[in-house]
Formats: sequence, C-alpha cells, structure tokens
Amino acid sequence: MKLLVAVKRVIDYNVKIRVKSDHTGVETANVKMSMNPFDEIGVEEAVRLKEAGVATEIVAVSMGPAPVQETIRTALAMGADRGIHVETDVELQPLAVAKLLKAIAEKEQPQLIILGKQAIDDDSNATGQMLAALLGWPQGTFASKLKIEGDTALVTREVDGGLETEALKLPALITTDLRLNEPRYASLPNIMKAKKKTIAKLTAGELGIDVTPHLTVLKVEEPPKRQAGVKVKTVEELIDKLRNEARVI
Ligand code: AMP
Repeated sequence: MKLLVAVKRVIDYNVKIRVKSDHTGVETANVKMSMNPFDEIGVEEAVRLKEAGVATEIVAVSMGPAPVQETIRTALAMGADRGIHVETDVELQPLAVAKLLKAIAEKEQPQLIILGKQAIDDDSNATGQMLAALLGWPQGTFASKLKIEGDTALVTREVDGGLETEALKLPALITTDLRLNEPRYASLPNIMKAKKKTIAKLTAGELGIDVTPHLTVLKVEEPPKRQAGVKVKTVEELIDKLRNEARVI
C-alpha cells in the first residue's frame, strides 16, 4: 500500500509572529521555519503503518519555494521513502494545493493520502476536504485514531458527543488531529540516510495546474492587546465589579 503525505513548511510554532509594517502579511525573513505540526503527525502515522507492515512506500510531498525541500528532508529522516517537491514562488492557497495534490495522486496512485487538519500559518482547514472532493474519494477528517483493515480505513474522530468511527473504502484521504500520535524525532543516522533519498522536482506547469490565487488578503493586523487585569480584595468587590463594571451578572 502506497501512502502520500503532504508536508507544509510553516513558521515554527514557538516563534512569536510579527506583522509586517505594511500590513501585507507576517514577517518570514530570518524566522525559524518547521514542518507544520499536524503534518509531522501525518508522517509519523505513515511511518507507523510502514513499520506495522501495512504500508509499503511513503511519498512526502511539499509545494512552495526551494527551501520547502528541507521540510521534505525532515519527512525523509522520519522514515518517508522519497519526496516530491512542486517548486513555485506563488503564494499557494488551499484550492491550488488541492489541485496539485490531485495531479500527483493521479500519477502516484496512492491508497491513502494523509494531510494535516490545518496548516498553522493560514489556519484554513480546507485543503484535505477540497482534495477529497476533487478526487471523489471518501475522507476522514480530524482523525484521532486510524486502523487499516483490508481495503478499509477505520478512522476515529472526536465529535461533540464523544468518539465517532467511520469506515472508509480505500483509496481514501485522512486529515490528522493532535491526538493521533506523538511524532518521533529523527535520529542522526536517519538524518544522514535521508540525504541519499530522492526528491523529484516538478512545476505546476508540468502538472498542468494553474495556481493563480483567487483570494486577496486585504490587511493583516496584530490582535488587540489585552488590558491588564485588576486584583480584588473581597468577594463583595468582585461581585460589584462584575455587576456594575463588566455588567455580566
Ligand atoms: P490548510 O487547508 O491550509 O489549513 O492545510 C491543511 C493541510 O494541507 C496541511 O496540514 C498540509 O498537510 C496540506 N498543505 C497545505 N499547503 C501545503 C503545501 N504548500 N505543501 C504541502 N502540503 C500542504
């Protein structure tokens, strides 16, 4: 069973985001970048399926400018077998990524595609759903547990009332939630081994996909600063403030 895993390069989740002075976006120059955390979970799940003898090959795919190759290398160091890099300097939006992934899926014919439930930079939570729709494949979003049984993927999802398990007929697509697993750190020998693994390079043009953005970002702003709190001395004072200042009781 071949697996395709999408990995996006994003600003590291520990970095304090700074908005550009012209409000066109956020500062990315000299900022630490990493694999989107939900995609690390996707790679980990794929590697576990391979270790369990369920998957035979893992292909890690990323789209973006030249440095996204580092993210693919990280996936290879974690255990993916080979990479595909679709190189473009265009700011990719979810629909463009979904169309590129569909073209790659048609070439590679994976049985399962794994994406993160969302990229922590744009928080779109859209690419997986769009890709499943474009392919006409069943989708299990926000997976917190995955089991492959024959030609079926059993996907457990956390929903309002508890846990829901869906049976998807392969080929299928899942998007990962935080609780699916805890990703491993790549070991030094595996980082060295990953240097020898291949990354195929493609362009959107070669895949016949138009990646022109359809959405325009009007303005990016910092969230309003939170006002400092006050300490109250008594419960009566707290009730008074809630009643007469905050007017919430
Ligand atoms: P989003 O819909 O933007 O929140 O992204 C959801 C998921 O789509 C991510 O977690 C990735 O798995 C995948 N994805 C989005 N953009 C890219 C990209 N440029 N390269 C590879 N995967 C991507």
